[in-house]
Amino acid sequence: MSKRVNFAEFGIVEPQARLKHLANHGNLSDIDLNIPIRRYYRSGMEMVRMAHVYHSEGNLEDAYILYMKFMTLFIEKIKSHPEYKSVPTATKQQNQAKLKEVLPVTEKLKKTLLGRYEKEYAQFLANKEAERAREEAAARERAKNSIPTAPATSHTGATSVDFTPSAPSSELLDSIVYPNDFPSDPNRSSSTGLILPDSEKKPAGRPTFDRNLKPSSSTLLDGVLRTVVVPIDTMTSFLDLAKSNTLNNVETCAILAGRLAHNQLILSHMILPKQKGTSDSCNTMNEEEIFDVQDQHNLITLGWIHTHPSQTAFLSSVDLHTHCSYQMMMPEALAIVCAPKYQETGFFCLTPNYGLEYIAQCRQTGFHPHPNDPPLFMEAQHISLSDKLKIEVVDLRR
Ligand SMILES: [Zn+2]
Ligand SMILES: [Zn+2]
Repeated sequence: MSKRVNFAEFGIVEPQARLKHLANHGNLSDIDLNIPIRRYYRSGMEMVRMAHVYHSEGNLEDAYILYMKFMTLFIEKIKSHPEYKSVPTATKQQNQAKLKEVLPVTEKLKKTLLGRYEKEYAQFLANKEAERAREEAAARERAKNSIPTAPATSHTGATSVDFTPSAPSSELLDSIVYPNDFPSDPNRSSSTGLILPDSEKKPAGRPTFDRNLKPSSSTLLDGVLRTVVVPIDTMTSFLDLAKSNTLNNVETCAILAGRLAHNQLILSHMILPKQKGTSDSCNTMNEEEIFDVQDQHNLITLGWIHTHPSQTAFLSSVDLHTHCSYQMMMPEALAIVCAPKYQETGFFCLTPNYGLEYIAQCRQTGFHPHPNDPPLFMEAQHISLSDKLKIEVVDLRR
């Protein structure tokens, strides 16, 4: 009986395909050769940190996506970076140890997810089959009572052939995996076979699906920015620490770091590295010291904060390039600009598609003009200020 179910039509909810979709999502971007390789190693550590949190909170899909992302990055992609040969042995060893730790965890996760998907799929097929049986019975009943072929009106709506699911909520629809969501990279055999054989023949609308099939609960798949919670005292603390520089018309900068919890990014630490500022720029030195602090406190990088001692709050062309590498590693990364002279604070990010891509492609250095329409950066919408949390300061300047 079950053979009569059109598997191809629903192939997309097939367990292996769902799993592959998660794996592919962790596989999306290629290495950007302009980003220093040490940033990738940092970012890798942070991916694993976030994956652990998702895992411990029971968000297995997002944990799996991040573990897979980490593994494809460091088993495969990182080798194409021109600086790969110059990576210190200690860094490579630390990375290898992480890979060894992550591999069995990911394998286990994969099995758990597959088991869950198989259960859901079996349920889905059973529901589908029951539905079909009901319709067949109804059709037989109609034939037996030989309802006369009435004018068209009586036949519209209740058709005996089509499966018409009750209208699902748009929220559910958005979480369902569609054939078009799959990256169509012809070089990757792993992505082939996911596309439904008859996908072209299907009407352009949403594919039918069973409302009992649980959609994925993955935030990373949804591509929605997670909220960054910013303690409200971050800016006042920072301006205090920057005071003497500001009086001398010299910029000050700091790294913003924190943790993931219940799908929110909580800013908890502000790290002021050794630095060299001018009236319109600020360069960090001894980045290793920042990394040590982050490792010590298990922190992930959430962006940066700097002063404009004599200008308004905006992102200069140099700021845009600085911020680009933060946002490429962490889509939620913030650039906070404090302009005490104008009593302004800006919470900025590059516009998610256009601005990020434009700056990533721009090869100019130093101050240089960019077109400003459409805008390259914007006020971040994914922040939430908190007066309950307090920022912790780590001042490495002396
Ligand atoms: Zn600036
Ligand atoms: Zn540029």
